[in-house]
Amino acid sequence: MSAVPRPSVHVLATGGSISGLGPHRLDYTLYPELGQRLSVEQMLARIPEAGEIAEVTAENVLQVGSPSIGPTEWLQLAQRINALFSSARPPQGVVVTHGTATLEETAYFLHLTVKSERPVVVTGAMRPPSALGTDADLNLLDAIRLAACPEAAGRGVLTVLNNEIQSARDVTKSNAFRVDTFDSRDFGLLGYVDSDARVVFYRNVTRLHTTAAPFDVRGKRGLPRVDIIYAYAGADGVLIDALRQHGTDGLVLAGFGGGSYPGAFFEAGKRAVQAGIPVVLATRSTAGRVIMTPQKASAGFIVSDDLLPQKARILLTLALTVTREREALQELFFRY
Ligand code: ASP
Repeated sequence: MSAVPRPSVHVLATGGSISGLGPHRLDYTLYPELGQRLSVEQMLARIPEAGEIAEVTAENVLQVGSPSIGPTEWLQLAQRINALFSSARPPQGVVVTHGTATLEETAYFLHLTVKSERPVVVTGAMRPPSALGTDADLNLLDAIRLAACPEAAGRGVLTVLNNEIQSARDVTKSNAFRVDTFDSRDFGLLGYVDSDARVVFYRNVTRLHTTAAPFDVRGKRGLPRVDIIYAYAGADGVLIDALRQHGTDGLVLAGFGGGSYPGAFFEAGKRAVQAGIPVVLATRSTAGRVIMTPQKASAGFIVSDDLLPQKARILLTLALTVTREREALQELFFRY
């Protein structure tokens, strides 16, 4: 009797707590500074059950904490995933293991740059594999199960931690230590990789992504520089003016509520627009939209819609690879 072929899943490991090793079982805080890590082969050896779900292959792309991941590493990951999916024997799905600190940023970058409908699942852990109550093993197993699932295709890049499937666009890390830290704010989860080992979806994403996005980073070696400046009561325009003078390709201003800013801060933003720098108005509120108004429109600003500032930065970074025209940039913020 011939065995039923298992779907192929390729794991790209980058480091983070999911690979971290602490000095003892109650260490939840020092291990990132000690820097000892499991290789992806060692991570997979802890979950032999994965072999029953998929034919798993793997590579160590990076071995770093995610505060060390940025545009260079995003390009490296996007290019590797696109090469895997366009190879002669593409995997059914890809899993990326990643530190939780910037997981949402890498996931959204991949959501906009992977040119395939096949599942890409990003996971991490809040407690390293060396600690009591670690979530590393189950999160990796769940990610492999999700990447192997045909129903996960066509939904853009997904994250799974704590059994919860979320969209890369909406997900954010909401708590410094809890295992249920990942949250999609107003919109909730897409589904579960649940305790009975089933993958269950309840919602679709509606904003465009992956194959419907116009961003092509194949062969790119660098990206535009985009900075974020956070507003606070009494903030003046010094930081915005400094960045304008230093030189930046784009700015995201994280303001209050639906899009208000201290006067001097707003005026400095206008000076940046007049200097030809695209400026996106976002909010430091953790959910909700920034609304376009006549004053903002006549000053030449772009609004982020409901993207968190760190997600708006990624969309603006990629948008600047295709256009610098304000109306076209604004349109991209309403679509992705
Ligand atoms: N320091 C870790 C990181 O790489 C934290 C984590 O993975 O939770 O982001």
